[in-house]
Amino acid sequence: MTLTGNLLIGRQSLRGTHGTLHAIDAATGTELEPAFGGATPQQLDHACALAWQAFDPYRETAPGRRADFLEAIAANILALGDALVDRCVAESGLPRARIEGERGRTVGQLRLFANMLRQGDFLELRVDPAQPERKPLPRPDLRLRQIPLGPVAVFGASNFPLAFSVAGGDTASALAAGCPVIVKAHPAHPGTSELVGRAIRKAVDDLDLPEGTFSLLFDAGLEIGQGLVADRRIKAVGFTGSRAGGMALMAIAAARAEPIPVYAEMSSVNPVLLFPHALASRAEAIGTAFADSLTLGAGQFCTNPGLVLAVAGDNLDRFLQAASARLATLPAATMLTPGIHRAYCAGVASLAGHAQVQTVARGPAGSATQGQAALFATDAAAFLADPALRHEVFGAAALVVRCRDLAEMRGVIDALEGQLTAALHLDDADHDAARAFLPALERLAGRLLVNGFGTGVEVGHAMVHGGPWPATSDGRSTSVGSLAIARFLRPVCYQDMPAGLLPASLCPDSPQRHSWRVDGKLPGCAG
Ligand code: NAP
Repeated sequence: MTLTGNLLIGRQSLRGTHGTLHAIDAATGTELEPAFGGATPQQLDHACALAWQAFDPYRETAPGRRADFLEAIAANILALGDALVDRCVAESGLPRARIEGERGRTVGQLRLFANMLRQGDFLELRVDPAQPERKPLPRPDLRLRQIPLGPVAVFGASNFPLAFSVAGGDTASALAAGCPVIVKAHPAHPGTSELVGRAIRKAVDDLDLPEGTFSLLFDAGLEIGQGLVADRRIKAVGFTGSRAGGMALMAIAAARAEPIPVYAEMSSVNPVLLFPHALASRAEAIGTAFADSLTLGAGQFCTNPGLVLAVAGDNLDRFLQAASARLATLPAATMLTPGIHRAYCAGVASLAGHAQVQTVARGPAGSATQGQAALFATDAAAFLADPALRHEVFGAAALVVRCRDLAEMRGVIDALEGQLTAALHLDDADHDAARAFLPALERLAGRLLVNGFGTGVEVGHAMVHGGPWPATSDGRSTSVGSLAIARFLRPVCYQDMPAGLLPASLCPDSPQRHSWRVDGKLPGCAG
């Protein structure tokens, strides 16, 4: 399939005339064809107008039809075959197997939401029947359903060119909820974005959905992304990227006449806690597995294990030796963009030059576009004294904090900002010590995991990929898994509404009646 470099606005493929951008081959640093035209403010306005026109008809499509839509998108993405994988490998520098795996995850997410739509329980229908005889006052008839928020702006992420980009989790959950979507493509992978955008566009056409259900914009600067968030017809934002970028978009959203929610996933160092018995019994195995997780995908995962906490001593030294030995065998890997590579090198240099930080190990050096893994150590007092040591270095770099005892380790946990994940490595004999950490860890992170690492996020119903600020801008939500749909819905109550005016799902003869929560009782629950 030939790339055009055009914007996809409604049914039209239009040339953006507000500057141009090129993808860069991540491995060689050379420009890839074609040139992509940046959207003009008028083209942004056109996309927003179409999305707004599409909102009412699209949100009232039957959930089964939206399920067909998501499945059609999944099929169209798979039908792109090698053309998509080749372009995505070139633009991201990620290995082919990783991109094929990510494509599977993207398709799986779309199908997960399709299944959820067919089940219908995401609507959380509630009915409190009228009680006209109630004393002293009669109770009105109350019926509740969830409706979508409105058109959603999605910012594609650099580190997941498929699973968190044009047809990624934010788009899938917003479309499932009934929200039209306008994607601002990440400039690191415009070709991948166009291919996937056309797969969505084809599904919109084939299912005869409203024209503005989906649009894809390229931005040759920051103006169009910022204008998108500021536009009054946009009602929510999904973002994955830097803290500075997420905070800038949050500020724009908050300054609007009508502020809107921004679901921004920003930065996380994902602490790994090594408990004493586990460290004593298997320091080498944990150290080796840690090095593998640290370097996966050149460390460019939001769940990358960037911080390790343990009690100082021989067992921690065994862990460090094993991790160092493993790092020495893991080749440097191409990073996503020159900018991300530069930021990584600067972060590593800053840790290496810190007076209170020791360089424990470096991985093999690579080419000018590759990230060389780095393992550093410090002590808890130094870590607590300098907030800069708590910042994410995006890439395969980690800091090990040597603690005097578990009480000091707990003090370090209490000093951390919100996190996506916290990993506990423990044996049975560590359970009492670990239990004492759990309240603090629950306050800290969106996901607590045992004897593993946060990389490799399962997409399911019980997954949480979120956490308190700055891991995400709204710790009440998740951007992975079926619960992600809740970000784009809000409840509406219908009081004493005649059956002829009620939405079909709340009518007395509704086929979804079996899923109603009546008088607060879950369906199927007696008593
Ligand atoms: P980014 O710079 O935050 O960019 C993400 C998207 O937001 C891009 O489309 C970008 O547009 C846009 N954007 C950023 N700042 C903006 C602003 N002020 N106004 C309007 N739009 C804005 O993230 P990135 O390019 O993916 O990577 C840069 C750094 O982000 C990395 O080095 C890493 O530190 C961090 N990062 C973190 C995670 C994580 O999950 N924790 C994931 C990815 C990246 P333009 O590119 O066109 O400016």
